[in-house]
Amino acid sequence: MQGQAVDLVLLLLLILFFGIQQRSRPQIYYRFWFVGWIFVFLGYAVWAVREVQPDLVHLQDAACFDFLLLGVLTFLTSLVAKAHQLQKAVLAGVAIGAANVLVINMQQFGSIPRVLLVLMTLLWQGQGFYLAYVLLPRRWPRRRALILTICVVYGTALVAYAGWTSASNLDNGAVVELLLCTAVLYGGSVGRRSPAGWVGTLGFTAWAAFYLINTQVGDSSEAQKLLYEFWNFPKYFVGFSMILRIVEDTADENARMAEKFRELSEDFQMIYDTHPHPMWICDGVTGEFLLANEAALQQYGYAMEELRGMRMAELESPMDGETEDVEDVLTAPTEGTRVQHQHRDGRVVWVNIVEREIMYLGQEARFVIARNITERLKLDRELSFRAQHDALTGLPNRQLLADRLEQCLKASEREQKRAALLTIDVDHFKLINDTYGHLVGDECLKQVAARLKSKIRKVDTIARTGGEEFTAIVSGLSKAADAEKVAASLLRVFEEPLEVAIGALGVTVSIGVAVFPDDATDAQMLRQRSDEAMYRAKRAGRNRAGYANNMNVSGALDDVEQR
Ligand code: GH3
Ligand code: MG
Ligand code: MG
Repeated sequence: MQGQAVDLVLLLLLILFFGIQQRSRPQIYYRFWFVGWIFVFLGYAVWAVREVQPDLVHLQDAACFDFLLLGVLTFLTSLVAKAHQLQKAVLAGVAIGAANVLVINMQQFGSIPRVLLVLMTLLWQGQGFYLAYVLLPRRWPRRRALILTICVVYGTALVAYAGWTSASNLDNGAVVELLLCTAVLYGGSVGRRSPAGWVGTLGFTAWAAFYLINTQVGDSSEAQKLLYEFWNFPKYFVGFSMILRIVEDTADENARMAEKFRELSEDFQMIYDTHPHPMWICDGVTGEFLLANEAALQQYGYAMEELRGMRMAELESPMDGETEDVEDVLTAPTEGTRVQHQHRDGRVVWVNIVEREIMYLGQEARFVIARNITERLKLDRELSFRAQHDALTGLPNRQLLADRLEQCLKASEREQKRAALLTIDVDHFKLINDTYGHLVGDECLKQVAARLKSKIRKVDTIARTGGEEFTAIVSGLSKAADAEKVAASLLRVFEEPLEVAIGALGVTVSIGVAVFPDDATDAQMLRQRSDEAMYRAKRAGRNRAGYANNMNVSGALDDVEQR
């Protein structure tokens, strides 16, 4: 009784073990083994209480063999399920199980006419042979042949047994047949060199042999006693082989994973090494370089050994006028930060830095991608400049002037200062074009622009706002009369003739002046008043300045101040 208890505990442990395995592993056969051991356990549990309930012996006998049979059948199915669709294998298992249980139980409980028993055994064995024939793949020629042979030889023996004897051990006979088939399939399901395969085959064969011998020896013979001493051993062999199989599977998986990991890391290493963008890994705390790719070494001109002694901050170049200029002109990058780095030879490179915190060799680190954006930045700045400046003279265009005027008016209002808007138009420019051609005209415009610019402070703006029309914004004036001084200095700058390809060329301009907030308080009105003043200067004879503030006072032309 004690031996049986230990046996049941061991079986429970096997169930627990496979229960855990089947949850965490992809191999479908672990799940079958888990179920199989539950059946086997139930079989032996019924057997263990057999002596406690003597009046139910018949029923218990039947149940014991039914469970055992189902357990072995589940192991058998697990070995076919791998090669076949799961559903097909399970259906075949159920069909074989039903036939086995039906014939055994009928024979055990009722007295069936012998002819019927023989017929049923024949059908049952025939079904087994048919399913084995259909289900076992032809690429397993040896296993297939062996199992079909077992079905024919052993099946014939069983039919004879049912026909010519009392057939009292038909249940044993059925279990033996299934155990033999399982032994064959189990050995073949793993490689020839797998110890699990050998141990399992040995276990299932011994299990079959024990049941076969059990039917042949007398109840109280010495052989029977010896058999019962070792009764559970084959079962443990099978259990042990299945555990061994898991160990082998794990080792295989680990080897496969290691190989896959090695391939992957080689791929990544190659991508990292040959990537055109500079990348490096540096210490998360100190910023010291730990690793850098080829592109990074190229971009900064350092060797890996030199970089290893450096910190990332040492690459940064001090902020200068260009930095501010870039920040003013261009919008912030969509990802990462834009910084100025220095090449080993002092050259400045603009880079876009994108970093991520990572773990590298067990320590906190930063993975950095530093794309060189120097060229792109140059292009961006050029495009941005072109969009806001006039191509011929390089002066700000209408668009930029409008922006600056808005800013200027806001600042003037805040600081309670005046600002003047001067519209400057070249006199009789058409004549220059018509007389000397457009090229000379262009040259003139460039020089006019340069002269006007020379008289305008850096903080102020002079823009080309039309063909031969310029506009100046002059800020920070304390009184309206200061604007007159600026206009006078602009008129004076044309006292000297221009020097163009065809020689000296005298040019004059007419200027219209409007002052904020005296003449207008918004940009549009200010421009209009400045324009009107300029036209009045034209009408008054050109080469002079007209003032918006005088217009309302005396109206006509006498308000135009002559230089
Ligand atoms: P006013 O004193 O009344 O201003 O006379 P104007 O001839 O200067 O005036 P108008 O507006 O009639 O003529 C301006 C001329 O400027 C006409 C056009 O051919 C010329 N012009 C406009 N843009 C350019 C340019 O980019 N290059 C050259 N060469 N000429 C230009
Ligand atoms: Mg003109
Ligand atoms: Mg004009």
